[in-house]
Amino acid sequence: MSGANNQPIPAAKPVIGEDEIEAAVRVLRSGRVVQGPEVAGFEEEFSELVEGRHCVAVNSGTSALHLTLLALGIGPGDEVIVPSFSFAASANAVRLVGADVVFADIEPGSFGLDPAAVEAAITPRTAAVMPVHLYGHPAAMDRLMPLAQRHGLAVVEDACQAHAAALNGTPVGAFGTAGTFSFYPTKNMHALEGGMITTADAEVARTLRLLRNQGMEQRYANEIVGANMRMTDVAAAIGRVQLGKLGGWTERRRANAAYLDEHLTGLVTPPVAEGARHVYHQYTVRVEGDRDAVQEKLTAAGVGNAVYYPTPIHRLKPYWEPDQKAGRAWDLPETERAAAEVVSLPVHPSLTEGELERIVAAVNGLGN
Ligand SMILES: *Cc1c(COP(=O)(O)O)cnc(C)c1O
Repeated sequence: MSGANNQPIPAAKPVIGEDEIEAAVRVLRSGRVVQGPEVAGFEEEFSELVEGRHCVAVNSGTSALHLTLLALGIGPGDEVIVPSFSFAASANAVRLVGADVVFADIEPGSFGLDPAAVEAAITPRTAAVMPVHLYGHPAAMDRLMPLAQRHGLAVVEDACQAHAAALNGTPVGAFGTAGTFSFYPTKNMHALEGGMITTADAEVARTLRLLRNQGMEQRYANEIVGANMRMTDVAAAIGRVQLGKLGGWTERRRANAAYLDEHLTGLVTPPVAEGARHVYHQYTVRVEGDRDAVQEKLTAAGVGNAVYYPTPIHRLKPYWEPDQKAGRAWDLPETERAAAEVVSLPVHPSLTEGELERIVAAVNGLGN
């Protein structure tokens, strides 16, 4: 054992390696830094991950969700069904376009939307449902897609945590009307910041391209009102390097998770639904006892850990206060239980064998 083995193990470890730096420098030296050939190349390469769907790169995952809802014509008067057990961006995108957020509960076996809860939440105003592939586990798309089709709803997949995850062999981002990905540094791959929208609908793809660039295809011939949500060529060049490494990193994440599944005791390891390919953006366990104490002990043992997410979205101020005022209360028992029980442990591809052993020793020594 060397001294380095006592270093704290970070919960996440974004990779900015020599390849990424070289790619960025190459683009910077070219002088062509705004959306250009690197973005086009990144979109083309990313489409291989989603069965050849159209890909539109933007400046963040949140922008990807926001623009998708705009492109689908979702706005005031519409309702979008969203899980409350997610990152706030999922619901924020709905509110940003002026539509109403309707929260539905999750299934404990995937942390994703429960199709029965979605069905119960549908009203004449429902325009779309937004399954989140939380932690890198695919939501129940095999049951959500037929349900959405039956009710004529758009499906916007929030795949921001789930690059290369799949269900029954179909990759996430290839199920819904559109899929959205994030390239924030802690995600399974990054582009410093960035996002990608995937869709099989050429018309939606064209609208998205207009919306991200002031409504222009040709300069100063604006067709619609748009924003500036473009990705830079520097970001795209980094994204392309990372995309090339995603397959290897995903296998490392899955192997790390398999090791933890096999060796951890005393807590509930992450569920994997039948037919699901989990890509372990997070390795999230459930603690049925005193979670704060568990987190304190893990941190003291140098094992990075975090709770995603301690407060369900419906309890966050911008959602809670208007609901309180309107006398609206959501019934989300599985969401509340998950928020109280989950802890994520390190699973990133940079973990060494020694670090995996230390995580197991720390968890199994908790004595609960
Ligand atoms: C990260 C994330 C987003 C937002 O992506 P950004 O690139 O940070 O804007 C949206 N939804 C989920 C579930 C995420 O994890």
